[in-house]
Amino acid sequence: MNWFRPIVSWVAILSLAQMSWTQSMSLNGPDASHLSGYGAQSSKVERDWEKKFQDGIVAGNLRESMQRLSARPHHVGSPYQKENAEWMLAQFKEWGFDAHIETFQVLFPTPKERVVELVEPTQFRAKLQEPVLSIDPTSGQTAEQLPTYNAYSIDGDVTAPLVYVNYGDREDYEQLDRLGVSVKGAIVIARYGSAWRGTKPKVAAERGAIGCIIYSDPKGDGYFNGDDYPLGGWRPREGVQRGSVMDTDYPGDPLTPGVGATDDAKRLAITEAKTITKIPVLPISWGDALPFLSALQGPVAPEAWRGALPITYRVGPGPAKVHLKVKSNWDLKPVNDVIATLHGSSTPDEWVIRGNHYDAWVNGADDPISGMVTVLEEARMLGELHKAGWNPKRSIIYCAWDGEEPGLLGSTEWVETHQDDLQKHAVAYINSDSNERGYWEASGSHDLEKFINDVARDITDPEKHISVWQRARLRRISVAANAEDRSEIRKRADTRIGSLGDGSDYTAFLDHAGISALDIGYGGESDADQYHSIYDDFYWYTHFVETDFAYGKALAQTGGTAMMRLADADLIPFEYGDEADTIAKYVRDLEKLLKDKQDEITERNLELQEGVFSATADPQKTSVPPPVKPVPPFMNFAPLKNGAESIRKSAERYQAAFAKWQKSGSEMPPDAAAAIDVDLLKIQRTFLTDRGLPERPWFRHQVYAPGAYTGYGAKPIAAVREYMDEEKWKEAEAQVPTVGAVMENVATAIDKAADDLEKANGRGR
Ligand SMILES: [Zn+2]
Repeated sequence: MNWFRPIVSWVAILSLAQMSWTQSMSLNGPDASHLSGYGAQSSKVERDWEKKFQDGIVAGNLRESMQRLSARPHHVGSPYQKENAEWMLAQFKEWGFDAHIETFQVLFPTPKERVVELVEPTQFRAKLQEPVLSIDPTSGQTAEQLPTYNAYSIDGDVTAPLVYVNYGDREDYEQLDRLGVSVKGAIVIARYGSAWRGTKPKVAAERGAIGCIIYSDPKGDGYFNGDDYPLGGWRPREGVQRGSVMDTDYPGDPLTPGVGATDDAKRLAITEAKTITKIPVLPISWGDALPFLSALQGPVAPEAWRGALPITYRVGPGPAKVHLKVKSNWDLKPVNDVIATLHGSSTPDEWVIRGNHYDAWVNGADDPISGMVTVLEEARMLGELHKAGWNPKRSIIYCAWDGEEPGLLGSTEWVETHQDDLQKHAVAYINSDSNERGYWEASGSHDLEKFINDVARDITDPEKHISVWQRARLRRISVAANAEDRSEIRKRADTRIGSLGDGSDYTAFLDHAGISALDIGYGGESDADQYHSIYDDFYWYTHFVETDFAYGKALAQTGGTAMMRLADADLIPFEYGDEADTIAKYVRDLEKLLKDKQDEITERNLELQEGVFSATADPQKTSVPPPVKPVPPFMNFAPLKNGAESIRKSAERYQAAFAKWQKSGSEMPPDAAAAIDVDLLKIQRTFLTDRGLPERPWFRHQVYAPGAYTGYGAKPIAAVREYMDEEKWKEAEAQVPTVGAVMENVATAIDKAADDLEKANGRGR
């Protein structure tokens, strides 16, 4: 039952009308009056349907679905996760979608034994339990809650001295070297933050540690930021961040890399799986961490390492000695993806795909249900439009992914299973995950940069009644690092979108299958954080994150408009100017990285020679000078620069032909459009190579990839860049021609589309 009625205020309607007027006035020329990829007439029809769609989104539905989906814990393999899948399946069917559930069998460890205890100099046993709060109605569902743990930690039982390693990044260990502290044979304690949590045990193991504890410092997401829960929204004393620590060789089921985890798939033995950690790991709250950190002696931690606890942060090692024990049930569990299709009317073989995950660590109101409910609301409204006579040209596929939290399991297995079909048919994949109050945010492949900017120009910000695009742009000006960045934001027609790492379900689509992708959402204003805790639930979300679902509504409007616009366009509105610009920037970034490294190492070597380190070190403290390093050699980036330049030229040709067609205002004849679409779909695929990145073959895209040591964060042109980060200059340079050749092939693929578009333009005259 829909108890929450949509309220349409006159203010909102007036500002909408005013906005579209100012927008059409601010653009010049007849070609700008219609949507990119549309003729004049089809654009008008599209705008009418989009307006109906946006007006039909009901915030109350988001609230109601969130309450339903987050009512009980619903992690992979849990009873309520299955109920949620079936409920969504029924919804999609009711809305007129052709829907089914697709199931895979994946390795998903759950805890059997967990111990973290201080055995010397005093004794303390960590509680490893988030307390029930009487004010929070779902916090007491203890029987169904997954305990606090890090999934894919190897089993282990170790006792050793403790060392504090800050975030546990590689740079942090270089600092430890300077302090003369080794973690060999030790258990490390790292705080959450900075790189992907799986990087912490990975680097610790590389450095010789035998166990890893990760805790949530109040500086990151606790009282340092505001009142903690339940008075405010921030992580309380005993709050714990669960999460996967899977290594980044490949996402998805650890036992079936590169192929779908179907019932009959060939599986690796657990001992062969490369993505399970090398040492045991457990997460703890700051309340549990305090006795451990307080018991450390040794050097005082560098200033940047200090959190917000009322102690002197020291590094160790010891005298604190820790016993850490982790044992899991290593079972195969089903993941159930819900896949719902609205078949296209004229080109059903071209697929526009939308998705969000619906599995959580516990109740997951924010992560992921705040995003999932907007995707469902989009689908509901598209179903209504369909019943009212709207027929998308291309097919629309809505996906609710299971198993994202442990390691993008549901989406990766689905893409791996269907990769041949996806590579033939998929136009784009649009992802969202959690959604909060605040600014419009988008990342993705840059052939969609202009497209998603245009969509954001048409969505009204619920708090400021300007476009979400304008608000995000002004926000960027306010937080820009320097005058150069500000000037670029002001000059550039489109707001730059970020590049994608592997933080959510777009990863397999873009990095493995070469499908253009976007990740969209809102955030930046919520004064609360309960990431992966039992307190990320309906009570907390509706009190501290969004009370009225206004930004949930904005996300549904953004995502649904993007889906409709991609599905209905005469010609897929990919834009290669922004893509060429971004790739050229990535190449310049590599050149700058080399120059910075050369300068940094030259300077340090000089200081070593001058005796700076030995002369300035305090003799009462241990201080080890940094090692002398060879200055990085000259690298020949010419193949990359040539490749980027070829893409720029081809992009210019394509965009000129595209602009000519747009200016004519004519509809693209369907057969010509279909042929050009085929060309366009090949372009993003051309970035893939069969052998993938040199050390991570699953990642096949040669421009977009996550970093092996950053995880979530992107490392563009990773084949070259990652070797540079590791100071392996020869290996880095050896990758340059390969990536350069890929860029030349991409330029050729764009040329093919330009040829066909020019022909179509000629035919139309
Ligand atoms: Zn999520």
